[in-house]
Amino acid sequence: MKKAIAKLLQHPLVKKADSFVRKWDGELTQDLVLQPGRFGLGKVPARLDPDDATNMVCGFCATGCSLTIHLKDGQAINLSPATNYPVNLGMACPKGWEALTPLRSPDRATTPYLRTAGGHLEPVDWHTALQNFTLRFKAIQEKYGNEAIAWLGTGQICTEELAFLGALAKFGMSIPHGDGNTRQCMATAAMAYKQSFGFDAPPYTYKDFEESDVLVFVGSNLCIAHPIMWQRVCQNKHRPEVIVVDPRKTETAMAATQHYAIRPKSDLILLYGLANRLIANGWIDRDYIDRHTSGFEAFADFVAQFTANVVIDATGLRPEQLEKFAKTIHCGSRVSFWWTMGVNQGHEATRTAQAIINLALMTGNIGRPGTGANSITGQCNAMGSRLFSNTTNLLGGHDFLNAEDRAKIARILGIDVNRIPNQNGLAYDQIVEAIANDKIKGLWVVATNSSHSWINQTKFNEIVKKLDFLVVQDMYFNTETAQRAHLILPAAGWGEKVGTFINSERRIGLVKKVARAPGLALSDFNIFKLVAHYWGCGKIFEKWSSPESVFQILKELSRGQPCEITGIRDYQMIDEAGGIQWPFLDTSSGASAQKDDPAQVLAVSVEPERRLFEDGLFYHPDKKAKFLFESPRDVPEPTDKKYPFVLLTGRGASSQWHTQTRTGKSAVLKKLYPEHPYVQMNPLDAEFLGIETNQKVLIASRRGQVTATVFITNTVQAGQLFIPMHYSVANELTFPGFDPYSRQPAYKACAVSVQKTNIP
Ligand code: SF4
Repeated sequence: MKKAIAKLLQHPLVKKADSFVRKWDGELTQDLVLQPGRFGLGKVPARLDPDDATNMVCGFCATGCSLTIHLKDGQAINLSPATNYPVNLGMACPKGWEALTPLRSPDRATTPYLRTAGGHLEPVDWHTALQNFTLRFKAIQEKYGNEAIAWLGTGQICTEELAFLGALAKFGMSIPHGDGNTRQCMATAAMAYKQSFGFDAPPYTYKDFEESDVLVFVGSNLCIAHPIMWQRVCQNKHRPEVIVVDPRKTETAMAATQHYAIRPKSDLILLYGLANRLIANGWIDRDYIDRHTSGFEAFADFVAQFTANVVIDATGLRPEQLEKFAKTIHCGSRVSFWWTMGVNQGHEATRTAQAIINLALMTGNIGRPGTGANSITGQCNAMGSRLFSNTTNLLGGHDFLNAEDRAKIARILGIDVNRIPNQNGLAYDQIVEAIANDKIKGLWVVATNSSHSWINQTKFNEIVKKLDFLVVQDMYFNTETAQRAHLILPAAGWGEKVGTFINSERRIGLVKKVARAPGLALSDFNIFKLVAHYWGCGKIFEKWSSPESVFQILKELSRGQPCEITGIRDYQMIDEAGGIQWPFLDTSSGASAQKDDPAQVLAVSVEPERRLFEDGLFYHPDKKAKFLFESPRDVPEPTDKKYPFVLLTGRGASSQWHTQTRTGKSAVLKKLYPEHPYVQMNPLDAEFLGIETNQKVLIASRRGQVTATVFITNTVQAGQLFIPMHYSVANELTFPGFDPYSRQPAYKACAVSVQKTNIP
């Protein structure tokens, strides 16, 4: 390794970079570590004492609750749920209550680490880290071309940071391929909305949970995955019908008035069958269809084949259940449809999401209180990632393929338009495939734990060994991915930096700096700024001086887009308004007069809860929503004699979050879920196999074999098993299938076998 680096240092390109690096030596001062400001340490609560409190949005899930952070000497000492925020109304789930704990973990990366020739990760200073980052990535580009580097981002960092990463990588470093863990989470919903509505636009507001008289949840265990949203359902005063479509009798299904326990991945056929019943019975809103949609006649012809018999065959439901389901939708005057990962993570996910959208459109259940085809987002800033990460679309929901869009972005950013790629980059799975095929040799992973979370994990971890250079930027030095890195860049976490998140209902909320990042850890924003300087493209980002200055740039980028936010004056306005949903246009005539009087802008403009499509106008050129559909396909890996069980995966408990890099650091949260992997099994299967509860079993798929403790329960159907995704064993088993449109992995169903084992 030393020899290789010595050789690299002789390269002319590297020498040029080295002189640049030297120029910046000495600039890595504490100023970058501790950057005070109105929203930084010491001045967080603009109008409050340092020993008072300030509100900020939670950094786990996309519900986007506000937490009141209690301060001493300007630093967080405790928190409680904010009572005056339109999202959570004084509530928080266990993760929110424990949000500060993971910041204090001994597992924090407090310094950069570089892998030595002996294979160990050794602490180094920032200069050495950034020098290696720059030299080694540039050497890969020199040898293999720009296409040989990629990055993987996240929906867990602030929007301003996501935009910086995407702009830096694509426009500054000429890295054409970047994606994020949003691909694992919301790519399907984004694609479905884009195709159906003309833009990725979740239409609802959380108030709709309270306004519906029928709520239909497809593949969503809201009680566990989004407990505060479930509280909003519980506050519904209309005695609503709550319908759950899920193979498992989840906590949400138990609380529902109707549960349809369909066979895994028969949801698309069920949804087409429902459309058929609604049409056959005349239970559709013809006027809405005619005025606001296109493609209905072809859709009606298509779903005619999904007769009750077809649906019953595929789903295992009874005919009267199908009829009752359709009738409940018909009888509702405000029906809302909700979905999340049970839909998004499927092999035909985009069409399934659109089948839900179709039901809302054909019954006129959209754009009114208590209605909508509503995808529930996972990560705290997945929506920010969808709009501003510069991965699947050009900043602000623009199109890399559109010359006008590229010119607009170049003009606003003041860059040469030729810096903007005119092609889409590779998706996550394609990046992994390109690594496997030796086309990508360098990877920069930011705040995501791919070695645990990516589908077919064993293969993924074999593939990343082929990389010449893997950089992981994370809060912790010991995530499964960080431990495989050549270089670790220590990052500040939520609460240690400033920026915005966008939640499920399009609400932009503020993140504040209420704690110091440990050691040499820097905010992702400052890391990107340093990378830009070391790389030699810092000039392009001169105006990107602070998160709030980037927010002002994002406002301009959004101008004229459905997600326009030009009416948001600044961070303070977001803070005072209790978050602001997009769109939020600067519509003030005499704008300057109003801008001089921020209080007036707030008083006049900010409604706390707004939904889209109240005017029935969508984002396609004809302003109509499209009916989209396609013949269902078989699951990619059906069960057989050798692998007779369907393995389902999903969230385990509301105290667990994804790969547990943070929730696993809280002793309180760890008390609320089993420490070791467990598998849920139906009593009939357990009896047949002679397995007792708490016994260890071997579960095998074609990709791996894992051990788990059996929990016998009738919440899973016979022939099905369930393992929570938070245990890394789950993805040793999952099958690498992908939706063809969203390229989102199909985590939800694969074929496995179960065997008793003598392991105690
Ligand atoms: S529901 Fe989500 S946003 Fe709210 S406290 Fe829990 S993790 Fe945080």
